[in-house]
Amino acid sequence: MNRIPVVAGNWKMNKTVAEARELVSTIISKLREIPNVEKVLCPPFIAIPALYELLENSGIGLGAQNLYWEEKGAFTGEISPGMVKEFCKYVIIGHSERRTYFGETDESVNRKVSAAIKIGLTPIVCVGETLDQYESGLTSEVVRRQIKVGLAGIDPVDPASARRIIVAYEPVWAIGTGKASSGENANHVHGQVIRPALSDLFGDDIAQSIRIQYGGSVTASNASEFFAQPEIDGALVGGASLKPDEFVAITKAAAKSSR
Ligand code: PEP
Repeated sequence: MNRIPVVAGNWKMNKTVAEARELVSTIISKLREIPNVEKVLCPPFIAIPALYELLENSGIGLGAQNLYWEEKGAFTGEISPGMVKEFCKYVIIGHSERRTYFGETDESVNRKVSAAIKIGLTPIVCVGETLDQYESGLTSEVVRRQIKVGLAGIDPVDPASARRIIVAYEPVWAIGTGKASSGENANHVHGQVIRPALSDLFGDDIAQSIRIQYGGSVTASNASEFFAQPEIDGALVGGASLKPDEFVAITKAAAKSSR
């Protein structure tokens, strides 16, 4: 199955609007000329409209880092799917930092994924086990449940919407720690746990077409190790996405692996 790799930068809570403009100005011309990779930047909400203008016609997509599932109303501090859709094509959902610090669960992830799909966004759905779960041999069980519950009820009779989903496998112990998973371990989780769980939900044909990114301490030095693996279809990059040369190098490494 020919899956175009997708490299997304999760800027987390970094960069003012002015700093965000500066970072994009530094990387836009280098990124736009890299072929055969879907490129996505996910800045903080407040920088999205400014970057939308800068990135227009660049071939580089914009993503939000979260959304709320309701359309509108008395939900102070939240951002609706429609508000995200005005500027973005993508939205990260269920990042482990949101699960850890903001009480997100597989059930709330499911509501957000459904809302994102309904409005036509491409959700980047994050799954991954904690260090305790990894050390207790619970990775498969945890990740399978996150997929099963998080993606439940996405209508398989509408293959286009299910195919649009991107899954990011991000072992929590690898995020921001400098201790990346090995390519082999990530490939195993992608191919033996996530893709079969997607197949149970959507059937094999759709499961084979869904991109599964790896995320967790990806850098320019280790990126090729991940992209060489057949089940790894790009990366969700945190810290290194704030460093222009690193992010460009990671994206180039993905382009080289494009199958
Ligand atoms: C992330 O935040 O999704 C992430 C993978 O972070 P880092 O690359 O810094 O580990």
